[in-house]
Amino acid sequence: MPELNVHSVLVTGSNRGIGLELVRQLAGKTNCPEWIFATCRDPEGPGAQALKNLAAEHQGIEIIPLDTSEAFSVKTAAAIVTERLKGASLNLLINNAGIVNQSTLETATPEDMLKVYNTNVNGPMMVTQEFLPLLKKAAQESPQKGMSCSKAAIVNVTSECGSITNLLGWELAHILSYRCSKAALNMLTKCQSLGYAKDEILCIMLHPGWLQTDMGNQAMLAPMTVDEGVRKILDTLANLSEKDTGTFVDLDGKTLPW
Ligand code: NDP
Repeated sequence: MPELNVHSVLVTGSNRGIGLELVRQLAGKTNCPEWIFATCRDPEGPGAQALKNLAAEHQGIEIIPLDTSEAFSVKTAAAIVTERLKGASLNLLINNAGIVNQSTLETATPEDMLKVYNTNVNGPMMVTQEFLPLLKKAAQESPQKGMSCSKAAIVNVTSECGSITNLLGWELAHILSYRCSKAALNMLTKCQSLGYAKDEILCIMLHPGWLQTDMGNQAMLAPMTVDEGVRKILDTLANLSEKDTGTFVDLDGKTLPW
């Protein structure tokens, strides 16, 4: 089975939930990345304490401030990471940060729709634009043929709630703005996969499973622990290749319908 073997990775929204667990498990690997850029919007706030504790135990974890919905914050983070890398590149970008709002057909407002779209779609778009030079560099400098997450990849964490065919959990929560935003994120990812194919950057939309995080537990207790889910996610990322670019997969690597 192929192993995930990255020198550098960046995770957005890594102070809690799936993002924090991704950083924890990446740092705990025997072949752990040399650089793990764990980004979050408020590194000095109480919500980042668990991440700070983790970073204190692992030299490779570097906490970087990054609010994915703010263009200036994204640009500043890209400049800091570029400087820290001292000429090295970025293999793996995980656009994980996301928000949900309990909106329904009756209660949704234009403001809610825009706010959720801004974080869940504009965020991954702006972050990818700013970190693209570092990802391109990783692909250019890699001796590997084809595409892989170990070489150069963009992983957009989406949701099966945004699948127009499946509408996961409709009977539990309508979450209108969230569903629309994740459907749009899927289109963004498909476009990225076409646009960045010539650069050999793998682009994937990943449904992480229904996991026990603040977001996952909102309607009822989620069926899977974040620890188990993230183990599966990392195994799946290790197995992706160019045949998978532009596809919508779940944590087990199974293709989902749009
Ligand atoms: P959580 O609500 O537990 O965590 C969300 C994370 O995103 C937090 O770190 C939060 O930071 C961060 N975040 C939100 N907005 C921004 C922003 N503007 N800039 C930077 N960071 C931000 O969610 P999960 O860990 O469960 O979800 C992670 C991803 O997985 C999301 O994209 C979600 O849609 C997706 N997902 C989750 C599922 C689940 O069952 N858990 C199912 C399907 C998809 P802060 O602490 O500052 O708010």
